Amino acid sequence: MADREIRVGEATAAPGQKARGVIRVGVGTAAAVEIPVVVINGTRPGKIVCVTGGVHGAEYPGIEAAIRLSRSLNPEAVRGAVIILPLVSVPAFQRRTIYISPLDGKNINRYFPGNPAGTITEVVAATLFQEAVGQADVLIDLHGGDMVEALIPFTIYYQSGKPAVDEVSRKMAEVYGIELILRSMALRGGSYQAAAAMGKPAILAEAGGQGILDEPSVQIHVRGVTNVLRHLEVLEGTPEVPRKPVELPQSAWLSAEDGGMFYPAVAIGQQVEKGQVVGEFRDWFGEPIRKVESPATGLVLFLVTSPAINRGDPILSVGISA
Ligand SMILES: [Zn+2]
Repeated sequence: MADREIRVGEATAAPGQKARGVIRVGVGTAAAVEIPVVVINGTRPGKIVCVTGGVHGAEYPGIEAAIRLSRSLNPEAVRGAVIILPLVSVPAFQRRTIYISPLDGKNINRYFPGNPAGTITEVVAATLFQEAVGQADVLIDLHGGDMVEALIPFTIYYQSGKPAVDEVSRKMAEVYGIELILRSMALRGGSYQAAAAMGKPAILAEAGGQGILDEPSVQIHVRGVTNVLRHLEVLEGTPEVPRKPVELPQSAWLSAEDGGMFYPAVAIGQQVEKGQVVGEFRDWFGEPIRKVESPATGLVLFLVTSPAINRGDPILSVGISA
């Protein structure tokens, strides 16, 4: 807020300062992780924005965008403050685990706002909310397809039922600049859901995937965060929104009923009909196990690109138009 010092973990920034450090999180003596954090404390009062990357450790464009923003944003240009955590899930990044932490096998984006008495993933989630999100007015969480997922970019916000919060979240999603917006109605431990549930407007933006650090996806996130910062008057300027986004009121997610070799029959961005065959499972002798049908009519938003699918794994999602 620029009228006071901001401390996140070991990073302390007085008004007009930028500070780097780590948040140390441990459970007993067995596991400890250090989460990098950069605090850019502005010279004038304004909103405090928290930006997270690498909540999933192999979603590289969001991590890179957060790193770049943490280096390029200057306190002199900032009203309020920006708290950036470029890589929340360090062990997942290091071990290249998809969805989950290698330390306890949990997907952190199902455990927000965390549990200080839980396992390491739950404690990291709780610490993140306590230290960073708790001090912020809004949250922007940068994601993409994981190592085994392709997707077309989209931005999600959670409809919390509090109109004042939801209106700001929706507007943040609109100015982010990605053409598709999804509204999430179910509270499932996502960062943006937990933040909105506690009254802090939030979005989760998805761009890139398949373990590739590609420049266009990095640019989508850099532009998106910059746009939101401009919209909230943390930075000067007008958001650059290429096209008016389309909001999809619903999406259907399909999980695998079987494991085996998965052969998709559709591509991301493709329009599919409810009941249309979108892929097939075969066993390791090539014998068919089951055909998989689309749960809805709509647009394929994401699709797994690894044939190695286990029971319960996400396969695809379909965005449903009004
Ligand atoms: Zn993710």
